[in-house]
Amino acid sequence: MNTRPCRNVYVHVPFCNGKCAYCAFYSEPEVNPASVTQWLDRLENDAARKSAQTLTLDTLYIGGGTPTALPPETLKRLFRILERHFSFLPGAEISIECNPESLTEEKAEILARHVNRVSMGVQSFRPDFREKIGRRPSDAHAVETALRLLRANGIDNIGFDLIYALPGETLANWREELDTALSHGVRHISAYSLSIEDGTELAARGLPPEDNELSFAMWEAAQKILSAHGMPRYEISNYARPGKECRHNNFYWTGVPYLGFGIGAASFYRQTRYTNRRERREYEAILSEKNNDAQTVLHRLREEIHVQTREEQMEEFLFLGLRRMEGIAQEEFERTFSCSLRDVYGSVISDYVQRGFLRLEHGRLALTDAGIDVSNVILSGFLLS
Ligand code: SF4
Repeated sequence: MNTRPCRNVYVHVPFCNGKCAYCAFYSEPEVNPASVTQWLDRLENDAARKSAQTLTLDTLYIGGGTPTALPPETLKRLFRILERHFSFLPGAEISIECNPESLTEEKAEILARHVNRVSMGVQSFRPDFREKIGRRPSDAHAVETALRLLRANGIDNIGFDLIYALPGETLANWREELDTALSHGVRHISAYSLSIEDGTELAARGLPPEDNELSFAMWEAAQKILSAHGMPRYEISNYARPGKECRHNNFYWTGVPYLGFGIGAASFYRQTRYTNRRERREYEAILSEKNNDAQTVLHRLREEIHVQTREEQMEEFLFLGLRRMEGIAQEEFERTFSCSLRDVYGSVISDYVQRGFLRLEHGRLALTDAGIDVSNVILSGFLLS
């Protein structure tokens, strides 16, 4: 059983300037001052209760929503709360998501005092594609301006989030998007294909189903183009300059515990996955309770609680670990589960190695290029139940 202390925290900021047509996250489409104050009060309450467990962090990731949609004074208060209730290991990675349109000089200065990594939600550089997915119209220079503001304040560790397979997008269009991203000299790129989730505006529009072949060609193009420019893929959808991989996300993929703060934020702790209440009124009501002790309140805040069985832990170890290009260490599996990888998965590994989908070298098991191409099928071979 994994009993490592929790050193990783995710904070969900549930406010945006509008609602994107593909968005299935919990987010409110405006930054209402009363709602923001109430949210911060509850967040502080939540952090105060959880930090009773004395959290010293190696990574903090502030996502959303759109954290940079918050006004400067609110951003300052958010950092005061986080720094009051958590301490940080030397060299801790502190990331924030940023929307280029909402970043101002004052906000860039605030970020520079508190974070050392920025993930910029660009999605597409083309106004026509942005419009198709309901992103706010963007000044043609918004990305350049945001990069200049961040860099002028000493933040160089910047990444872009991009989406491909947008409605009407061709392979040539996507290659241009990648070239534009590279021209900005960022250190990390996350690239996900557009996913149409139930309940979103895109789903209601009834778009034709995704062209899997085109989407796959775009995913392959990303690896070719980005790795040729010194940003190899390190996880199925993530690319980075060496040493600039997102440590926080790497921890997600290696089964390290993390705690989520805010409405609907997910946590994984002591082999248990759960989310905070997704219904805002319930979440706030529970955190306002005065009569219960911290543990009772924290327990009541949780929903979708799932305690993993040993088999599920093994499956997840493989599913998440094999998403990373460096794969998994046999030794780590053995240390975690006190049995050998071969004992549990020997036949499936031999079969996939023989067929060229997996490679087992120097004690590490990883997907080959052929295996990455069909990773969903390969990973399903590791199901134990
Ligand atoms: S900015 Fe992000 S969280 Fe906000 S509506 Fe758009 S996709 Fe959703």
